[in-house]
Amino acid sequence: MPSTTVLKVAVPVPLYQLFDYLPPEAGSMPAPGCRCEVAFGNRRLIGVVWGQGPTGADVSPRPIQRLIDDDPVLDADLRGLCQRAADYYHHPIGETLHTALPAALRRGEAAHWPGEQVWQLTSRGRHADAAQLTRAPRQRQALETLAAHPRGLTGAMLGALGITRQPLQALEKKGWTRLVSREPDDHERPASLLREVPLTPEPEQEGAIHALCEVQGFAPVLLDGVTGSGKTEVYLQAMEHQLRQGRQILVLVPEIGLTPQTIQRFRARFTVPVRVLHSGLTDRERLQTWVEAREGRAEIILGTRSAIFTPLARPGLIIIDEAHDGSFKQQEGLRYSARDLAVWRARLLDIPVVLGTATPALETLALARDGRFRHLRLKNRAGNARPPEIALEDCRELPPHRPLSERSLAALQQTLKDGHQALIFVNRRGYAPRLICGDCGWQAECPRCDSFLTWHKAEQRLRCHHCDLQRRLPRHCPDCGSTDLRDAGAGTEKLEEFLGEQVPDWPVIRIDRDSTRRRQSMSRQLERIGEGEPAVLVGTQMLAKGHHFRRLALAIVLEADAGFLSADFRGSEHASQLILQVAGRTGRGDAPGHVLIQTRHPELPHLRELISGDYHRIAETLLAERHAAGLPPFGHMALLRTESRQPDEGRKLLTDVAASAPALDGVQVLGPVPAPLEKRAGRFRQQLLLLAPTRRPLHRSLGAMLDHLLGHPRARRCRWHLDVDPIDLL
Ligand code: ADP
Ligand code: ZN
Ligand code: ZN
Repeated sequence: MPSTTVLKVAVPVPLYQLFDYLPPEAGSMPAPGCRCEVAFGNRRLIGVVWGQGPTGADVSPRPIQRLIDDDPVLDADLRGLCQRAADYYHHPIGETLHTALPAALRRGEAAHWPGEQVWQLTSRGRHADAAQLTRAPRQRQALETLAAHPRGLTGAMLGALGITRQPLQALEKKGWTRLVSREPDDHERPASLLREVPLTPEPEQEGAIHALCEVQGFAPVLLDGVTGSGKTEVYLQAMEHQLRQGRQILVLVPEIGLTPQTIQRFRARFTVPVRVLHSGLTDRERLQTWVEAREGRAEIILGTRSAIFTPLARPGLIIIDEAHDGSFKQQEGLRYSARDLAVWRARLLDIPVVLGTATPALETLALARDGRFRHLRLKNRAGNARPPEIALEDCRELPPHRPLSERSLAALQQTLKDGHQALIFVNRRGYAPRLICGDCGWQAECPRCDSFLTWHKAEQRLRCHHCDLQRRLPRHCPDCGSTDLRDAGAGTEKLEEFLGEQVPDWPVIRIDRDSTRRRQSMSRQLERIGEGEPAVLVGTQMLAKGHHFRRLALAIVLEADAGFLSADFRGSEHASQLILQVAGRTGRGDAPGHVLIQTRHPELPHLRELISGDYHRIAETLLAERHAAGLPPFGHMALLRTESRQPDEGRKLLTDVAASAPALDGVQVLGPVPAPLEKRAGRFRQQLLLLAPTRRPLHRSLGAMLDHLLGHPRARRCRWHLDVDPIDLL
């Protein structure tokens, strides 16, 4: 058979190759980055054209079923980014592309804004006599409202005005209203870019703004500014510089909960369209933002991790706020670091990228030290705010059922009496992390995981925080029948109850994943805090990230020492960042900030170092320890993990795979060993850790091991995944 030119298509299947298909009609070759529907086995899948070439396999290729796009949905820079991510994370290209595309496009929907459905009056409706509707007041209200909005209103907008579907449909029957598709507004650019006068920068901010406006082309920058130093003002003024040149800005934040606050600050400053992308949107809303960014109509795009894949018509700047945060790393599928992808993408686009944080990841700090990142520092808080004062509160004598010491409680009461707000930080949701039988010592454990069940009191349930298993609260001990069931330890829910008793005159506002599950409830809670009345906030790390609380004068941190004692080599780094971020929420207004760190291990050297409040001091210590141990950022790591129903299956597979690894310079293959949480959701987890002083041999070993693994018969009986640069070893 003569070789013909075929399309090489990336198909969303867990296979590391492209597949051959014939173009729809001979002679017309769709461009790389266009989607097409293809037959794959007996399924129809949405693939992406990745290139063309001579046919590879002996079987004659099938034609593609349907070409979806005329213009590529993945332009050259995103294709480059995805290819690099697929190579670096050793992940199948087809699945990588699916991670990069919004859900609506993964399903094959058209890549243009579908238009908005709005209700309008017909010409008969415009001339109708509202007096005819005196017996149908709701129809009359709808008619009058629509008469006042000639361009039409969406169902959601009408709903907000108290107008339901029913009167609209009744009017439609009369031929007075209709539902039409409206093109998006063309934003007339207001004459002025700014809506408010920028702050006069402090000297350190001035230097950073100047440096950011000066850079040309690709430049990775670490904006290393203490909490409250006014990093946002630096972003805003650097953004202004880009917007004046007609360029777009992509901003990543760690949490969906931070988007309203940040959006508000951007909209208060600029008149240009600002759009969001995060998991709380519908697929349709996400597609809309994606299209607007691609067409250049959205000028500022703010999103969480996956927004790094947003197409940009006129890219100018990428900003990662709170860049140290762990949520920039995806923990399933393509386990990418959005922080690293942002730097790769900025290089592909030849634009600057700014990583802003008060507590840089040690990896980022090492890059800045080596001169590979520009290092801009803001060492002082902006305005009149002073740095918070941090003290250790020795709790070795505190009875286990008392969550707060006498001194902590007294400080809390004083803060509230002074008219300020206080925050209690405990990184554990639920009422209590354990339920124990007082007679025989039985503890409620998860049958599917190596862990205990958390008591959620309001729900009267026990829940596993690893696999989401739920149980009704038992009335008596299943082992001995005793009714003396006690809890141990404290979560946010218990703190809330405890504070309700201890400081009954002040409101307690709880913020954690359970209290903010409903849409908007987080922003409502934050609004209440923003009003500034004295109150106690209780929360998990959701509260620690980036928030600006004007009236917060005291933070009490519970059980922070656990991180310093953790088996994870990053435990101390993460605990230090968390504590300083919590501390950084205090003292941002006029009242000075105080922080009490309750601990049962006041002798821990890292903890003692932390009270200086100087992140760089502790970071130096931690970097020296990592250097001595050859751990990241001085070594590079990858984790190959299996999960199997049979306890031994994964271990045997990994043993064979480890044996297949070629002995390359300095690559250490450690394991297989059971994962720290060996059993999770009914599966046994084993892991192989690879550590190497440089990346190249690490990636070569991984490639060889993966080849071996993919051909191994046991691989089909286990789940497995590869995590390059893992941050969670548990
Ligand atoms: P960061 O993100 O660095 O923790 P923010 O950007 O939230 O800090 O700023 C902290 C506070 O300082 C905000 O209330 C902000 O309005 C104020 N601020 C920032 N820059 C200035 C300035 N140049 N002059 C006065 N106040 C400032
Ligand atoms: Zn018992
Ligand atoms: Zn479980």
